[in-house]
Amino acid sequence: MAELLSIEDAIRAVLVRARPLPAERVPLEGASGRVLAEPAQAAVDLPPFASSAMDGFAVRAADTPGTLPVVAAVAAGRPAERPLAAGEAMAIATGGAVPGGADAVVPIEDVVVMDNRVEVRNAAQPGGHVRPRGGDAEKGEIVVPAGTLLTPPRIGALAAAGVEEVACGSRPRAAVLSTGTELRPPGATLGPGQIYEANSFLLAAALTSAGAEVERLPIAEDDESFHRKAIARALDADVVVTSGGVSVGPHDLVRMIAAELGVEEVFWGVAVKPGKPVSFGVRGRTLVFGLPGNPVSTLAGFELFVRPAMLRLQGASEPGPRFLSGRLERPVRRNPVRDQLVRARSRVDADAVALDPVTGQESHMIVRAAGADALVHIPRGDGELGGGAAVRYLPL
Ligand code: AMP
Ligand code: MG
Repeated sequence: MAELLSIEDAIRAVLVRARPLPAERVPLEGASGRVLAEPAQAAVDLPPFASSAMDGFAVRAADTPGTLPVVAAVAAGRPAERPLAAGEAMAIATGGAVPGGADAVVPIEDVVVMDNRVEVRNAAQPGGHVRPRGGDAEKGEIVVPAGTLLTPPRIGALAAAGVEEVACGSRPRAAVLSTGTELRPPGATLGPGQIYEANSFLLAAALTSAGAEVERLPIAEDDESFHRKAIARALDADVVVTSGGVSVGPHDLVRMIAAELGVEEVFWGVAVKPGKPVSFGVRGRTLVFGLPGNPVSTLAGFELFVRPAMLRLQGASEPGPRFLSGRLERPVRRNPVRDQLVRARSRVDADAVALDPVTGQESHMIVRAAGADALVHIPRGDGELGGGAAVRYLPL
C-alpha cells in the first residue's frame, strides 16, 4: 500500500466508473426511493381550474361589501351549471371550481348568512381565496427533474400532476460476500476462535436501503478455491461487495483472486480510519468493492464509497456522500496521516447539531457504533480538534 488516496480522490475514482444503468418504466406506486431517469412533466395545469381555497361564497369583488342573493351551491367535484352574474353569490366548498364571472371567495367566517342571501361586510380583494389555475405548476412544466430521488413529497407531487408511471434507473443487483474462516452465521454454535458473521447482514441492509437488489452469498473461508468460486459467482452482479481479506496478511486473498478473475484494481488503500485497506476495482461494468472485515470499517467504507456508487448507478445527479455540518461536543485527537470517521450521537442544539463521540472507537466495536447515528469526519492533522469545533458528518 504505497500511497494512500485521499477520501475525496477515492470517491471521485469510484463515481467516474459508476455509469447509470438503463432506465425502466415504474408505476408511481412502486417508485418511492427510486431515482428518476427522465424529467417528469405535469400532465395538466395544477390546479387544473381556478378553485376555492376556503369554504365560503364566490362573488365578484366589485359587488362587495353588500348583501347578495345566493343562487347556487358549488361542491368539490360539482361545478356550477352557469356562470355567476353581477350582484350574485354562490356558496362554494374548499376545492370547488370558482364559477365563471366570480373573481373572489369570501370565507364563511367573514359573512352573515340569512335565508337565501349573504351579507358581506368588508370589500373582497380580486383573486382573494381563489387558487388560480396552474398556480402550482403549468401543464408540461417539470415536476421532478431527472436524477432526483423520489421521496414521499415528490411521489405526491407526481400523482397530483397526473403522472401514473415514471422512468427510473434500474435497481443495481448487488452480491455480498463475507470472507473469513472464523465466521459463523448467527444461530450457529461458536467453536473455539469463531465469531458471528456481521458484515453480510450489515451490507445487505445498507444496500437495500440504497436501492439495490441484494444477494447474500454463503461465507467464504480463507481458501483460494472457496474464494475463486464465490467471487466468480458474485461477479455476475452489477456490484460486488466483499468484506474481509483485503489487508496484508497471508490469508487475505480477495484482491489476488479478484485480479485472477479479471478485476482491474483501481485503488487499494485510502487515508481513512477506520477502513484503510479498502480496495476498489472493475470488471467490465461490474464494480467490485473490497471492504476490510472489521464491521465498523465495513460500515464506514460502505457510506463513503458504496452508497454513492449505488445512487450513481441508479442515475442520481447528487449521489453524495452527503455530509452535513455540526459541532463537536468534546475534543477528539487527530490522526496525523489519516482522516477519521468518528462514531457519534447527534443532538439538535439551539443553533447547531451537537455531536458527541461514543466511547469505544475501535473498528471491531460494532455494538458501540450501533449506539451512534453519525460518522463525524475528523480531518488528519496534529494535536486535537477542540470541543465546539465545526465538523462535517454523515448521518447513519
Ligand atoms: P480481515 O479484514 O479479514 O483481516 O478481518 C478483520 C477483522 O474483522 C477480524 O477480526 C475478523 O475476524 C473480523 N471480521 C471479518 N469479517 C467479518 C464479518 N463478516 N463479520 C464480523 N467480523 C468480521
Ligand atoms: Mg479475514
